[in-house]
Amino acid sequence: MGEAVATRVLELLAASADVATVDLTGGAPELNPHFRRLVGRARELGRHVIDRCNLTVLLEPGMEDLPEFFATHAVEVVASLPCYGPENVEKQRGRGVFDKSIEALRRLNALGYGCPDAPLVLNLVYNPVGAFLPPPQAELEARYKDELRRGFGIEFHRLFTLTNMPIKRFAEFLARQGQQEAYASLLVNHFNPSTVPGLMCRSLLSVGWDGSLYDCDFNQMLELPLGAGVRTIWELDAIDAVARRPIATGSHCFGCTAGAGSSCGGALQ
Ligand code: SF4
Repeated sequence: MGEAVATRVLELLAASADVATVDLTGGAPELNPHFRRLVGRARELGRHVIDRCNLTVLLEPGMEDLPEFFATHAVEVVASLPCYGPENVEKQRGRGVFDKSIEALRRLNALGYGCPDAPLVLNLVYNPVGAFLPPPQAELEARYKDELRRGFGIEFHRLFTLTNMPIKRFAEFLARQGQQEAYASLLVNHFNPSTVPGLMCRSLLSVGWDGSLYDCDFNQMLELPLGAGVRTIWELDAIDAVARRPIATGSHCFGCTAGAGSSCGGALQ
């Protein structure tokens, strides 16, 4: 995201009183040169800010002060940690990632992030390492808390379980394993209509690096334009104008509606 897009996003945010939360994502959003300006201005405007953090970025050269920056601006940190042990984390994210993630979590805990009753929110994200649905969120959260506390002295608030969407890299993985059809059937056969009212596309708007608009991050990855017909942030005067809109859907949406459901805030039930 360049300067013009970041500036326009902040203008729209100022003009959109109904937008309560700014959710920054994209692999390592902290490395964007406009990241701190986006956070600072959003907080000045009184909006809650979430940073979707891969944890290892906190150990990158020049990023050492990020935990303090988060704490100063009361940023909620949602951190990816696919397992509480090294094997599955390194299988999914590469060698050395687990130890770095634990070190990053310790730095956040040292500032009060994730500690019981602390106001600085630290949540973790789990997604399955394979072609299956996540286990029940509450049970897995209890296991994570126990394992991370006993093994590493790590505290966090909540665990969000996410279903793997059959798109991009995971779709390629399924194709290599010959599991595409089986996984699609798994999602369809577990369709849960009671997840539909809570689907995240009903309450968020996704802005791409170039200012393009999408109904969610998955649609952005598929380059499926916003269902409302508006294409970019420059066609809007305020985000409120597209708060109630038709949503562009596809077969990948069964990833959000399977079982307990899946959203940026974890299971829907
Ligand atoms: S993938 Fe489909 S159901 Fe899920 S958030 Fe996006 S548009 Fe909504």
